[in-house]
Amino acid sequence: MSGVTLTWLGTGNFLVPPARYWNSFIAEGVGGPTVLVEPSPTALPNLRRAGHAVEHLDAIVISHFHPDHTFGWPFLLLEILQRGRRSPLHVIGPPGVAGFLEEMMRFGSTMDIHEGAHRKLDIRYTEADESQPSQAAGELVFRAVKVEHVPELECYGYLLELGDMTLGYSGDTKPCQGLDELAGASDVLVLECNGVHESHSHMHVDAVRSLRQRYPNPKMIVSHLGADVEAEMLPGVVMPDDFAKLDFP
Ligand SMILES: [Zn+2]
Ligand SMILES: [Zn+2]
Repeated sequence: MSGVTLTWLGTGNFLVPPARYWNSFIAEGVGGPTVLVEPSPTALPNLRRAGHAVEHLDAIVISHFHPDHTFGWPFLLLEILQRGRRSPLHVIGPPGVAGFLEEMMRFGSTMDIHEGAHRKLDIRYTEADESQPSQAAGELVFRAVKVEHVPELECYGYLLELGDMTLGYSGDTKPCQGLDELAGASDVLVLECNGVHESHSHMHVDAVRSLRQRYPNPKMIVSHLGADVEAEMLPGVVMPDDFAKLDFP
């Protein structure tokens, strides 16, 4: 038997509410790959503070291309290049993920880092493909599920096979069929809760409560939190602080 461990590098939404950095976490299954979910702007410093080293990451998972989920990439990539690694680094994201990250490096005038990293390291990109019942990126087996967030971006949630568990992750989403699919297939579900008030692009407290009632089985954890969300509003749901480490045996 083996479960999954989640280490929170940040639990806040785009607005970075007080005492919360941008949503990002490390997921590890015993004997399985170590996965960084969302290279948020504060992923690298908080990864260090949590005692993790980039060379132990096997895969980086990106739900969509908003900056609170991705703008830590240049800093992570330089650290990954400097520390070096023997094994491939897998990057999983929406279609176009390799080009999007390269464009970010170009805008940042850091193409030397981009080119050096891709010359010296084995970086492999895998695009989310909802038509596949299962995808593999090295040791990481996963399924991508489309969710509805904003009309201008293709956004994904994921089912990650870690340990002997299925870890669901919503990415950013409003209530939608894809989110229900994730909730129905997860042993542990990390989902966003952006605030107390209803939103056209995010989950809010009532929508999380409704999902909790409709899917009583998965352990539910909220992240991507707004300043107004409080733990008492969400019975039966775990609301971690930054740097919390949660074990699901
Ligand atoms: Zn976001
Ligand atoms: Zn977003």
